[in-house]
Amino acid sequence: MLEVKEQISRRHLIKSFLLTGGSLLLTPGCGRARNSPPGGEGWQPAYARLEENGLLAERVEKASELLSPCTLCPRLCGSNRKNGELGFCRASAQPTVHSHNPHYGEELPLVGRNGSGTIFFSHCNLRCVFCQNWPIAHKGRGNTESEQDLARRMLQLQRRGCHNINLVTPTHMMPMILRAVRIAHLEGLRLPLVYNTGGYERKEVVELLDGVVDIYLPDIKFMDDEPSHRYTGGAGDYPENARAAVREMHRQVGELQTDEEGIARRGLMIRHLVMPNRVSNPRRFVEWVAETLSTDTYVNIMSQYRVAHEAFNFPSINRAITSEEFLEAMRWAEEAGLTNLDKRSLSQRQIHRRQR
Ligand code: SF4
Repeated sequence: MLEVKEQISRRHLIKSFLLTGGSLLLTPGCGRARNSPPGGEGWQPAYARLEENGLLAERVEKASELLSPCTLCPRLCGSNRKNGELGFCRASAQPTVHSHNPHYGEELPLVGRNGSGTIFFSHCNLRCVFCQNWPIAHKGRGNTESEQDLARRMLQLQRRGCHNINLVTPTHMMPMILRAVRIAHLEGLRLPLVYNTGGYERKEVVELLDGVVDIYLPDIKFMDDEPSHRYTGGAGDYPENARAAVREMHRQVGELQTDEEGIARRGLMIRHLVMPNRVSNPRRFVEWVAETLSTDTYVNIMSQYRVAHEAFNFPSINRAITSEEFLEAMRWAEEAGLTNLDKRSLSQRQIHRRQR
């Protein structure tokens, strides 16, 4: 009898290994039962506590007031979105969604075994000239839907076993997202929310998310005004606003916390894309993180810059990065004392070292 049981469990293990493409033994989250909450029984997302205290509905209403005139982001367009006026981002007052899926390309603490439940929103308030998702971000490809539909998508991702709801480019949709989160929560949503933003945020608006968002995943794309103005649709005030917003995110959620299986449940994770000719100023970025936040901050230094969209027209960014450019950014991160660098950036460092 014991022999039969062993055979079954070995067969089960091999089958699981093949189904996950071998990732079962390589990723955090291994062995988690599908749909079990991150952090185990008893853990609850931030918005659940806010709802318990009777404050989530009020937060949804406050956020909704920022839509008309629209002051949701530092562009401060002032357009009356509830009456159909469009601002710089071209987004209406209804959620527009390009896709929703378990995603395995995000940082490992978000992906675990079952994937990060990403919802890609159409349009963008930043519109970088090098955007790799320009049909979605610049052209607004996607479908406009109701907040109930959006809530249903969140619940579908939860049923599929995803470890979180990963809101990709949420800034210009924030009030509708909050309303959808509340609807979904009342129907049983209990995954952590990941606020996956390009970083062009107003600190005052991020303050409204205090107690709603569990995990902040901002980019800090530029540290200097001039390249920021040139490559992000005129947002020369991006560095100042991104830094203030990220400081506020750090105040709210602190360093990244994971559960016993390595799955993220709360905290700040920052991305910085290394660009050609040091235009993003990675040295200043890592020094700022170390001096202003903490050397334990989770930082992902990314090497995947591609010449996309309109970047072909800008000589300084019209090429891939060199190994030297990536390796110097990683060296500066270490010299600044950063201790919590993303595992994929560490393995990229190995690859680039071999390529030199
Ligand atoms: S969210 Fe859009 S409409 Fe509102 S201020 Fe920003 S760019 Fe303008």
